[in-house]
Amino acid sequence: MNSRPSGNERMVITIDGPAGTGKTSVAHQLAERLELDSLDTGAMYRAVALRTIIKQVDPSDVDGIALAARQIELDFDWSSNPPALLVDGVPVGQRIREEDVDDRVSVVAGNPQVRGRMVRAQRSIAAKHPRLVTEGRDQGSVVFPDAQFRFYLDASPEVRANRRVLQSRSSGQSADYDEVLRSIRNRDRRDETRTDGPLKVPEGATTLDTSELSLETVVDRLVELVLATSPGVTGVSG
Ligand code: C5P
Repeated sequence: MNSRPSGNERMVITIDGPAGTGKTSVAHQLAERLELDSLDTGAMYRAVALRTIIKQVDPSDVDGIALAARQIELDFDWSSNPPALLVDGVPVGQRIREEDVDDRVSVVAGNPQVRGRMVRAQRSIAAKHPRLVTEGRDQGSVVFPDAQFRFYLDASPEVRANRRVLQSRSSGQSADYDEVLRSIRNRDRRDETRTDGPLKVPEGATTLDTSELSLETVVDRLVELVLATSPGVTGVSG
């Protein structure tokens, strides 16, 4: 049964962490259990990265990347589950999960103008969807430092690479473990070392190492943590 933190007051839960920690699935399931909306902010950066690929913007062209971010209109179809990203009104689907986007996205996400735009867009989404689980790299540290709950998921690079390989293979795509591990390490390094909105544990966040935990266990733990400290909650989840 689902448990809903009571009332209609604002309830923002942030989940940050590196690639392959299961954030997107965890955020989605946590949101379902608590009857909140869920936001995949990585998809937004991926959509901008895809646009720069399509427009053949050079990865070193800072202004070209910023322009691509200004020209793209991002929205979500909240009637689909999980909410589907729309780029200029059209669902973008799985294209943003392909390898060329994986390799480009952290360069694009390091662009301060792109980040400024995405942060504003995410806050404006939260204004319309004030009961939200939002996941990314900077959600608890920069975008919603006042969120009621801030979580940080971690796991070893090897475990994360292995998960990505299994994920790709289960959706019929081929994936080479060494290549995926290399890409994850590169992305971690870029995400952690950028000056604007670097990946880090947000102040006051609860960290969970998911290396040895199933998706269900992680979701159960987060639900427990939210329900334990959220006043007026009715029902027990499971
Ligand atoms: O979460 P996901 O792996 O889809 O994110 C793709 C990339 O988007 C990350 O590696 C990071 O460079 C960027 N990102 C970010 N800030 C966020 C979410 C994602 O910089 N809030």
